[in-house]
Amino acid sequence: HMTAVQNLRALEELGARLEGLLVLPGSGSYDAQRRVWNGSIDRCPAAIVRCASVADVAAALRFARVHDLLVAVRGGGHSFPGHSVCDGGMVIDLSLMRGIRVDPEARTVCVQGGVLLGELDAATQPYGLAVTSGIVTHTGVAGLTLGGGMGWIMRKYGLTIDQLLSVELVTADGEPVRASTAENADLFWGVRGGGGNFGIITEFKFRLNPVGPEVFAGPVFWPMEDASEVLRFYRDWVADCPDELMTIVVQRRVPDLPVIPRDLVGRHVIVVVACHLGPVDDAERVMRPLKSFGRPLLDLCQPKPYLVHQSMFDPGFPHGWWYYFRTCDIAALTDDVIGVMAEQGRRIVSPITSVGLWQMGGAVARVGEDETAFHGRGAGFTFNINGNSYSAEGFDAEREWARDYWTALQPHHTSVYVNFLMDEGEDRVRQAYGVAKYDRLKALKRAYDPHNVFRLNQNIRPD
Ligand code: FAD
Repeated sequence: HMTAVQNLRALEELGARLEGLLVLPGSGSYDAQRRVWNGSIDRCPAAIVRCASVADVAAALRFARVHDLLVAVRGGGHSFPGHSVCDGGMVIDLSLMRGIRVDPEARTVCVQGGVLLGELDAATQPYGLAVTSGIVTHTGVAGLTLGGGMGWIMRKYGLTIDQLLSVELVTADGEPVRASTAENADLFWGVRGGGGNFGIITEFKFRLNPVGPEVFAGPVFWPMEDASEVLRFYRDWVADCPDELMTIVVQRRVPDLPVIPRDLVGRHVIVVVACHLGPVDDAERVMRPLKSFGRPLLDLCQPKPYLVHQSMFDPGFPHGWWYYFRTCDIAALTDDVIGVMAEQGRRIVSPITSVGLWQMGGAVARVGEDETAFHGRGAGFTFNINGNSYSAEGFDAEREWARDYWTALQPHHTSVYVNFLMDEGEDRVRQAYGVAKYDRLKALKRAYDPHNVFRLNQNIRPD
């Protein structure tokens, strides 16, 4: 093992060879650069390599291997458990690699590994095109895609990975490799759900779909006291809705935003947020029963640009707050599940804690379970229960509430979405892929990363 001084000298030599930047402890930007989205994560890497090219990624990775440094890979930095930063070790950060190339004729887009969702949408929407992405604009394309990718247009077009045509990645040996259905097809299968286990993706190529520019979208609010009635109605209403419609049920206290009437702020509510991709007339017809159910407190569901809807949740999930998550898929919104939701919803304390119940199905479920590494295509709904606080204060109580909620749902758990997991151990990772796919991923891991260089992720162990 080398001394600290030798290590530092070696790092400085690496820094001099990079097209991008090397950030070391003590430098002015170190503290900003070591932060990730979740404010409850506070780690101090030995080095942060801000790569500007594929060559930088390869050089950083080779350096880390030679010097036996733990490696964290960062796309958008939104991993719930903070997998993209480590104590000691090296962060290989792609945030300078933000290139996007749209080919409107071929309806494809090439996206570098550090691009954020909002940038991708902004580049494709001028052509009336989009790729399925998530619901918060500052999330990274890389991590979201590698786990599957769920968003407002998935019931019509499938998950983000269902639109993936090819990837370029740097393997654990520092070698650039391409994968698609035609080239390294096994690897291409694995990166579509298997996370960052097999390499560092420097570029994704996606197929684009016609979307917008206008959609019929937004939230309808009811008091939490009416949760049972609203959910029972909602269950029947979505049961035979078209693929053009995707909804997320939200439980929370009303946030203090300019669009919200003052007297509603802080009130416990149940909200159905919808996004309909079809013509306005169709959307109005589909939405009418929901909008006229009971007595909504507020209805903000109306025609608006897709880009506006895509940023609707941004104010609720800024960088730096303390976030904790519990997640599970369920098959159906049974009376039991509705009972749990009504009961737990009333108990929310923090003004920034929330639950999202994602409606699955449609095109997601029409892709075969074995076609990609993603698991749980048959899920009816996905729960994302988050207990959040502004800082350490109150965080423990929020975590306990989220755990209670999740535990109460335990009899109904089916699969689980890998991108919504915290650090929950190997059994939960196995559950996220199912036994057969987990074994297949393990074999792939042995082939591409036998020494488990890429282990700060929802890890598939090679042994
Ligand atoms: P990072 O923390 O940078 O990376 C996450 C994981 O991916 C890490 O293990 C990392 O090592 C690995 N990784 C990152 N980049 C690369 C790369 N280039 N090559 C190889 N491995 C890499 N998910 C959805 O499906 N739909 C949503 O709507 C959605 N909304 C979200 C909203 C918020 C506010 C947050 C915080 C998360 C959301 N997620 C959503 C979950 C999201 O998909 C995951 O947190 C995802 O990992 C984020 O990707 P990232 O690149 O920002 O994260």
